Amino acid sequence: MNFEYRSCQFIEGGFTLWPNNKATPCCLSIYDSFMNSSQLTVHPESFPLGAWQKWREKTREKLRGGYVPSECRRCPLLQKGTWGKMPNEPFFSTINIINSTICNIRCNFCYLTKEFKAPDYRFDSHLGMFRDMAAKGLIGSGSVIFWGGGEPALHPNLREMYALFREAGCRQHFDTNATIYMDFLQEDLAAGLTMLSCSLMTPDPGTYHAVMGRDLGPQTWANAAKYAASGGDIRAKFLMLPENEGQEESFVLACKERGIQIANVDLEIYQGVSAASLMAHRLAKFCHYAAVYGLDVLHGNGVAYAGQNFLETYREAQQKNRDRILREYKERCRRWSLSLSVVGQASEALANQAFLLGLGSDLVPLVDMRCLSVKRNMGWSAKPYAFFSEHFFYFTEQRYMSLDFEAIFAERLVLRFFAHPWSGIIKIDINGKNSMMVNLYSPNNRLVEVDLMTQVCTYRERSF
Ligand code: SF4
Ligand code: SF4
Repeated sequence: MNFEYRSCQFIEGGFTLWPNNKATPCCLSIYDSFMNSSQLTVHPESFPLGAWQKWREKTREKLRGGYVPSECRRCPLLQKGTWGKMPNEPFFSTINIINSTICNIRCNFCYLTKEFKAPDYRFDSHLGMFRDMAAKGLIGSGSVIFWGGGEPALHPNLREMYALFREAGCRQHFDTNATIYMDFLQEDLAAGLTMLSCSLMTPDPGTYHAVMGRDLGPQTWANAAKYAASGGDIRAKFLMLPENEGQEESFVLACKERGIQIANVDLEIYQGVSAASLMAHRLAKFCHYAAVYGLDVLHGNGVAYAGQNFLETYREAQQKNRDRILREYKERCRRWSLSLSVVGQASEALANQAFLLGLGSDLVPLVDMRCLSVKRNMGWSAKPYAFFSEHFFYFTEQRYMSLDFEAIFAERLVLRFFAHPWSGIIKIDINGKNSMMVNLYSPNNRLVEVDLMTQVCTYRERSF
């Protein structure tokens, strides 16, 4: 029987592989008791599936009973939902491969630089184990492999493991410092099979040296530009550090000049969020420049982890920024009055859902939809959801239920929806004058952006 309880994608379908042959559910809280109690040793040739299944079932049972391990309580990935596998979903849908010991730079905020005392783990090749998993159907086309740091480009078996996952139909996602160009990714980036988040941090070589301890800044930007030339899903990571304060605009511009369309902005959370107000204002400023220069902004998990107080301060900073822009650019802004409702379902679609993830325009970003003035809401729920970087979205699966709101934006307003196999056909009434229909159905997970001025829909690949 399916019923709602709090859980996460790692407990339900993931595992994290560490270089010391340990597996844990996720890559967070590795040193805490929940993770320690659930750590398993893997064999390079085979995964201890029976023991893992037992652990998963036991944990689910506890979660269904309302118990949540203390390490998970603050985690933004913990969500209430009806958990269960989709038909044909592999046993492992999310795998982190963590090379937590090797890196070629020394960022001054990194645990590798600060804490890691004994990076002497031996890297086993896990090719045999993953081959076995693929043969048994435990991983496959519904699985996403996250390669994380240290620096994944230095993983001794990277090419072979990459090829194995590719052949098994898995999508792959890299968190890289972009100092080493991985040429074998280029075609798959173009095909949307792989995506990269490049830690670029600063456009200024001097700041790069001060933070990363090496003179590799220009090289990382050149590599990121090569990746971006594929047209694939490339994200430039900007971690807000004391050293790059005031570089929000130049960072966004540097991305723009190199053809990078997505910026991933985050907080360094491991030392706690000090100066929350400063950080919130920097974040709001970053989003503003991104809107002005036409870059998409994602928020890293650090923003969600920072807690409710930080998010409140951030929302206020956004609102202030928005008010200031509206005052300064009055003549370029107008009031929009919109009504959204699901009116049908494409024949191939599995349901008629709609997820409104965000809306914005050049000039006026709106990353948090709680700033919207909702006039009437019939049957749409408003949810925070950490898995989408937007953090907050409106959702419905009922037909003819309308969400009516007003907002002031520039002339060119774009609505952003999540498009997937369960999406329906949505009708958008614009300013009570005209309307447009958009089929949100997509066989795979994508973003669809609806430009209300030109009435053109743009579909974009996006990993979630
Ligand atoms: S809820 Fe968070 S901390 Fe707990 S297992 Fe899931 S991802 Fe890890
Ligand atoms: S690139 Fe990543 S893993 Fe390497 S030192 Fe910097 S933060 Fe740490």
